[in-house]
Parts: sequence; C-alpha cells; structure tokens
Amino acid sequence: MTNATFSVQPVTRDVRVPLQDTGPVRSGSTLFQVIKSKLPGPALLNGAALKVPSEEPIFRDTAHTVLPMEYKGRDIMMEAHAYEDDSASYQAMALVYRKAGVKQGAPYVRVHSGCVTGDIFHSLRCDCYQQLQKALDRVVESENGVILYFPYHEGRGIGLVAKLKAYAEQDRGLDTVDANLAIGAPVDARDYELAVKILRDLDITDIRLMTNNPLKVEALRKYGINVVEQVPHVIEAQEHNERYLATKRERMDHKI
Ligand SMILES: [Zn+2]
Repeated sequence: MTNATFSVQPVTRDVRVPLQDTGPVRSGSTLFQVIKSKLPGPALLNGAALKVPSEEPIFRDTAHTVLPMEYKGRDIMMEAHAYEDDSASYQAMALVYRKAGVKQGAPYVRVHSGCVTGDIFHSLRCDCYQQLQKALDRVVESENGVILYFPYHEGRGIGLVAKLKAYAEQDRGLDTVDANLAIGAPVDARDYELAVKILRDLDITDIRLMTNNPLKVEALRKYGINVVEQVPHVIEAQEHNERYLATKRERMDHKI
C-alpha cells in the first residue's frame, strides 16, 4: 500500500529553520482541469461576513503527479496532488479520481484526518481505516471524487502522542471527549482552511461530502465551499469501537 505509506508521513520539519526560500507558489496549474465551477462570492452565514481564503490559493509548495494504485486486485490511476501551506507548517495530499473530458456533477469528497493507528495498522479503537476504504470505494465507483488526506489531523488534531495518552485515559473509563479534556487537550483541534484552499486549487467548489460530522460540513460551508449533499458515511460498530462511536453520536452530534 504505497499510498498509505506515503499519506501518513508526519510533518516533522522545524519551522524555525527555513528552507531555501523561493517564495510562495501561486498555484492553479493542476494536471487535469476538468471540473470548472464558478467561484462563490464572500460567504455569508447567518448574515455575518466570514473570512474566506483568497480565490487564488497560495501555498508554500505544491507537487502534482499521477499515482497508479492497487484497488481490489486491479490497477487504477489517480491524480496525486501534494500541498504545503504558506507557513510551511502543514502538508496535505489530494487523491483525485475523475474521467477527463466528461462533464460531471459535484464530486464525492472525503476530508480525511490522518490516523496512524487506524489507517496503517487497522486499529479497532476507531473506524478511520474503514471510513477511508469506504470513501475510496465511493470515489472509484462514481469515477468522480476526491480524498483529501491530512496527516496533521492525527487524533482530531492533537497529535499522535496526545492521542495515545487519551487512549490510556479511556482505558481508565473515560469516553473520548472526557479523555481529551483530562490530558488538557481540546476535543477537536482541526482546522479546514487548507482543505478549502486545496479544493479551490482543484477548481472544485461544489461537493458531496462523505461525513457524519455536521461540524465538518459547517466549517467547509463557512469558507465558501458549497456542500450540495452530506453523504452519510456510517461504519458498523464492533466490540472495540462501540463506545468510541457512541460518544461521537451522543456527545459530538455525529449522524450515526
Ligand atoms: Zn483513527
């Protein structure tokens, strides 16, 4: 699984040590400019003006290529786009699957938080691996979709070490929300601004978002992405993640 190995590379660079500075990359030259949507004006939510990333997103660096992938015994080709934000603190990847030259509707999009334990080692404490595979299934079957992968969203943004500390608190009886609070970590530290910049770079503004998390929908809409459909992304509970999923449902308002 070369893609999985690639996708969880943590950002370890000390941002105090600058790279050879070639200036920010003004992106916009993707490999396949197929989906063209009209960019929205300033987003309004409840009548209030909100901060919206510029229409031409700026990244510290980008790279674009194609990635042959093994998928259920056959080869598929996906566009692979890597991004580094303008502060050089965060990296993310977009895997895009779409038929060139065919006019299509809003793509299926998964905004996936990196999870070393789940995505790589198939931990049963969460449902990340199953959610990623389910997203890949829908993207490949629809031939029109994007998986955005955020390694720095590990543990809902608190990082790998804090996540495992929270697991230890859960072993002492706390649920996932209280475990984070017990170690002094926020319940959810994720930000979706880079996700929005990447979607804009890919010329995608209308999406069908695969998620059960209403906060994710709200966050993307806040930045001007038109979520035309929230596609339920429910994974059946099993013995080890039953409580994790129940907490998502009961305390985090996930629609599962
Ligand atoms: Zn996970």
